[in-house]
Amino acid sequence: MANILILGGGFGGLVAAEHLAASVGSDHQITLVAPNRKFTFYPGLVQLAFGRVDPEDITIDLEAKLRDLGVRYIQGEMIHIHPVRRRVEIAGEDLNGEIGYDYLVLALGRRLATEKVPGFFENAQHLLGVKAAMKFGKLVDDFHEGRIIVGLCPDARLPVPVCETAFALARRFEDEMKDGTVRVSVVFPESLEAAFGGASLHKELEAAFERNRIDVHYDIPIREISFNQIRSDQGHEIDCDLLMLVPPFRGNASLRDLGITDESDFVKVNGFMRVHEMDRTYAVGDIVAFSGPKLAHMAVRQAEVAAANIVSELNGKAPESEYYHEIATIIDAVGPDSIYLHYGIWDESLYRLKKGRFWGWAKDAHDAMWRTRHR
Ligand SMILES: Cc1cc2nc3c(=O)[nH]c(=O)nc-3n(C[C@H](O)[C@H](O)[C@H](O)COP(=O)(O)OP(=O)(O)OC[C@H]3O[C@@H](n4cnc5c(N)ncnc54)[C@H](O)[C@@H]3O)c2cc1C
Repeated sequence: MANILILGGGFGGLVAAEHLAASVGSDHQITLVAPNRKFTFYPGLVQLAFGRVDPEDITIDLEAKLRDLGVRYIQGEMIHIHPVRRRVEIAGEDLNGEIGYDYLVLALGRRLATEKVPGFFENAQHLLGVKAAMKFGKLVDDFHEGRIIVGLCPDARLPVPVCETAFALARRFEDEMKDGTVRVSVVFPESLEAAFGGASLHKELEAAFERNRIDVHYDIPIREISFNQIRSDQGHEIDCDLLMLVPPFRGNASLRDLGITDESDFVKVNGFMRVHEMDRTYAVGDIVAFSGPKLAHMAVRQAEVAAANIVSELNGKAPESEYYHEIATIIDAVGPDSIYLHYGIWDESLYRLKKGRFWGWAKDAHDAMWRTRHR
């Protein structure tokens, strides 16, 4: 019997656990380690901030879900991996010590590196967690006049919620934006194409921003934030009254001395999602060093690929399932400007873009179905 250890209980970890449990769960021990007993459905956080869903709608009891799958859950955090001995040091309520593995899946997500932008912690909001999203929502509720800026810091790899927040603000402050008492601006560190991994959706997105009276600014790599002002490397100084930014992303620094990460601590893998230079180890989701935005559907697909390849290895075969890096996402503009984008980051010839109110509904329906299926 092999011990399969999954580190992380987000999209990547949960989907890997589901697939492994379904195919080899009765023959092998599957264990998932994560610090939080709850799974958060991150794509629902913008809706949470704007009061369209409640916290319990977008959180799942991870421990109960894993129990149903026959997967052992350990509340804890990976502190260090010892690849030669195939053991992982864990610190947590359920275990303070080491656990061994035969196969390892790294699904650790990203770290929010707010320290890279001085003043972020004191002066900016983000919505990358339930509490943070609710706090931002409360500030929006109390906002009556002035300029709101939403945007990406350099190395923030998440453009979708930035766009969705801008559209939700435009809907909330429709009258105030018409009479000029409220202004909503979006800032990107580079071009829109760069934010979306090279996909050219600027025509459609810019038209949608304009129709919603949202102004958009490119090439503003935010360097520093002070009270009510952002400053960039290029000398921009922009005043605002409320600020919501996605901070820079980094991987996990405790993996650095294993020699498996890039300069931002993301894990290098091959097309089979196998970690370079580390035996019997796979990585999936935001922790992976692939280019472009980091999105849930990528984590899900990578987890499916990694699980299939572990099953192959358990059966004495070489990994054969391959991952293809593409974007398939919906930007919900709360109305007819919603956009569906399907783009091949590794193959620019794959490009499909569709627009219409339907896509906002489709995202709501897909998200609700995903949450129900995983409860
Ligand atoms: C506001 C918001 C909106 C989004 N909207 C969309 C969208 O519309 N469409 C889309 O496709 N994607 C969207 N995303 C992106 C998507 O949520 C992520 O790509 C996805 O969550 C990545 O899954 P993951 O499993 O890699 O990481 P996560 O879901 O972040 O999970 C990481 C897991 O690792 C655990 N962990 C961390 N450190 C350790 C440690 N040391 N030891 C053990 N466990 C650890 C964490 O607790 C967590 O359980 C959005 C994200 C946010 C924040």
